[in-house]
Order: sequence, then structure tokens, then C-alpha cells
Amino acid sequence: MKLEKSKKLFEEAKKYIPGGVNSPVRAFKSVGGTPPFIVKGKGAYIYDEDGNRYIDFVSSWGPLILGHANDEIVKSIEETAKRGTSFGAPTQLEIKLAEKIVKHVPSVEKVRLVNSGTEATMSAIRLARGYTKRNKVLKFEGCYHGHFDSFLIKAGSGVMTFSIPGTPGVPEDFAKLTLLAPYNDIKTTKKIIEENEKDLAAVIVEPVAGNMGVIPPKIEFLKMLREETQKRGIILIFDEVITGFRIGLGGAQKHFGIIPDLTTLGKIIGGGLPLAAYGGKREIMDHISPVGDVYQAGTLSGNPLAVSAGLKTIEILEKLEKEEKIYEKLSKNMEKVAMGIEENFKKLGLKFKFNHIGSMGTLFFTEEDVVDFKSASKSDTKLFSKYFHNMLEEGIYLPPSQFEAMFLSMEHGEWEIEKFLEKNFLSLKKIKGA
Ligand SMILES: *Cc1c(COP(=O)(O)O)cnc(C)c1O
Repeated sequence: MKLEKSKKLFEEAKKYIPGGVNSPVRAFKSVGGTPPFIVKGKGAYIYDEDGNRYIDFVSSWGPLILGHANDEIVKSIEETAKRGTSFGAPTQLEIKLAEKIVKHVPSVEKVRLVNSGTEATMSAIRLARGYTKRNKVLKFEGCYHGHFDSFLIKAGSGVMTFSIPGTPGVPEDFAKLTLLAPYNDIKTTKKIIEENEKDLAAVIVEPVAGNMGVIPPKIEFLKMLREETQKRGIILIFDEVITGFRIGLGGAQKHFGIIPDLTTLGKIIGGGLPLAAYGGKREIMDHISPVGDVYQAGTLSGNPLAVSAGLKTIEILEKLEKEEKIYEKLSKNMEKVAMGIEENFKKLGLKFKFNHIGSMGTLFFTEEDVVDFKSASKSDTKLFSKYFHNMLEEGIYLPPSQFEAMFLSMEHGEWEIEKFLEKNFLSLKKIKGA
């Protein structure tokens, strides 16, 4: 595969942008090589500067559940843009999106729109602290909640890819307020909550971990979190930036029937534009300014273009769910992927693990079950890099890190899945031969 133009552009980009990218994992540092520079996308496909075409399983890291450049979404953005791109004043569109979120996400009675997932989790934590008048936060190893100071401690995702234990730039005094527990570990977590009950403002968790690769939760683990926090007036925050409108219209909380106090959303609710949100119980949300005294604001918050893209995305999902049970369909497609991978393993005598739930999945290059950060870390990242490049060479675009999720969209049909499995076989075979 030719990547001449991308190589040149990458060198050019590095002159002006740190590492040539505006978000670290895009730079391919952990897998090596040159990231293709993308010119366009349509449906399940993206195209790079050198004219290569790929079946895209990154889906912009989650948002594009309807695929690239969906006609209705593009039209909605265009029409909105003609009337102006930003007002910094309230619009009716924002009510419509807020209404949809409140309707679908069980824990959300009121919602505030922001511009990124990072902003959503950061604001939710401030609100939890302001509301409870406590300072400590408990998070789980390998869960990623954006790049806010409190969360960059064993944070999975990019931080995990680069093996940074935390990051310079986060003051120790700040880090001390963040407690850590192993994901899915009921006993340890319960003990930490008990020991810190007077100081804990919030427990924040990805109800399905997606940023150390996909790790589904033990339902008992989520139940325990709900019970132990409820007893003690600790705010339970589900970070559903990935899982919101991905596991179902009501997110993971609806799927598992466990309702947190606050929820953060992002990715899909922006339909590919910068938009995120945090919401929850009315009583808690009314502590945000201007009603309450916890301050949070944003010049471009509730931006009309982003809101129109998000609203249209949810409207389409509602329609697809009603007419053809889109979420069941997406799950079934991922099930096909999983079964195909297992078959390929069998043919090749391999015993790696493919974790998946709904339309998200990760192939871990380890033979042990992956249930937490520790077991995920046992993956052979060198093998992953080889697999990744073999797949890219074959026109399959995967996240360039072992510790990320691949996503299916409604544009990934039988043909794309078949191609994926065929290339998966070839790529694994090459690794074995090497
Ligand atoms: C992506 C992600 C974030 C951060 O969202 P950004 O929009 O990248 O700031 C937070 N939490 C989870 C679970 C995520 O997957």
C-alpha cells in the first residue's frame, strides 16, 4: 500500500503540531508507521490522501454509529448553518435535544450540554463535589474519563498505550484526591468505599469499560456500586460517553437496569460534531449555575450545528430502532464478527480473546480472560502492532492501539463483515508464520 502523500503530510504536520496530531493515539506511536491522512468518508468507508480505501472500524472513536457523512445528518447541518453557526443565546434546538436525552436515559431528568466528554466528566465531578461538600473521587484502573487532572491516574486508553503511569502536570495534591480500585473487583472496591465514606464525593465508572479495550462489567459489580454509594450519599456517575446511545437508546444503565445519580454522554450524541452532556437527578442538577452555585459555562455550549447533528442522529436511531430493532441488529452483527474470529483462531490454533458487547469489541493478544486493567495489560502489544499493520495493509482500519474498541455502525453490512473476517484470518496467519 502506498502512503507517500500521508508520509509527506505527517512530516509537514510535525513542524507545526506536536507529534503532528491533535490527539495522541492518532500518531500511531505505539504501533509505528505513518497514519493515513484522511480526505473523506462515506458509510463504512474512509479514503486517504494516496487514494487508499479502508473499511473503517474506528468510527471516529465511537460517534459514527450511522457511518460517515450520513445524508440526513449532513443536510441537517447544512440547513442549520445557513441560519447562523453560533449565537451564544438559547435556541429551541437545544430543548429538543435535551428532551430526547431525558426521554431515553433513565437517570437523566435535567441535562447540561458541553463540548467534549472531558468537559462533561470534569463538570460532573465538580457538581458532585459541590453537592456533597466532599473532595475525594473513586475511579477504576484502566477507565478513561477524559484528560481532566483528577482522572489521569491509571487512565487507560492513550495513557495506557503510552505506558504513562499518570502524567506530569497533575499536582500531587490533586492526584491524592483520586482513589483507585480494580475494575470488576467487588471486594476491594467495597473496602475502599467503606474506608473513605466520609470523604467520597463520587464514584465514577464506565459501565462497560471501553478504554482498556472492551471489558463488560460483572452485573454484581455495578449493583454493588449502586448499593454502597446510595447508602452513604456518594454520587454514582456512569461515564456513558461511549455507551450512551451505543448499547441502546438508554445506554448501559438501561441495558443493565442500574440507575446512577449522574450520567456523562458524548460521542454519539454529537453525531460527529463536538458535543457532550452531563445530566442526572433534578435535585442534583439544580445545583449548577445559574440556578445553583456550582459554576460551569461555555461560549460554544449547545452550538446549533453540533446540536442539529446530534438531534438528527438520535431521531434516526429512534426510527431505526422502531422499524428494525437496530441495536439488536448491531449486536447480532458483532456476534457474527466474534464467531468468525473464534473460527479463525481454531483454524490457526490460536487462543486469543475477543471481548465484545453490543456493537463494540476488542481482540486482545493474550490467552487469559480479560476482566480488568491487570489482565488487559498482559496483552502482547508487539503482536497487536503486527496484526494492526497487516489489517491496514489489507484495507481494514482499526484503532491503532491494543487498548481501544472497534465499533460497528449501521453501515457495516454482511459484505464488510465478511471482508473483515477474511482479512482477520490472513493477518493472524501472517503473525503465526512470522
Ligand atoms: C472519549 C471518552 C471521554 C472523553 O471524551 P472527549 O470528547 O474525548 O473529551 C470520556 N469518557 C469516556 C468513557 C470516553 O470514552
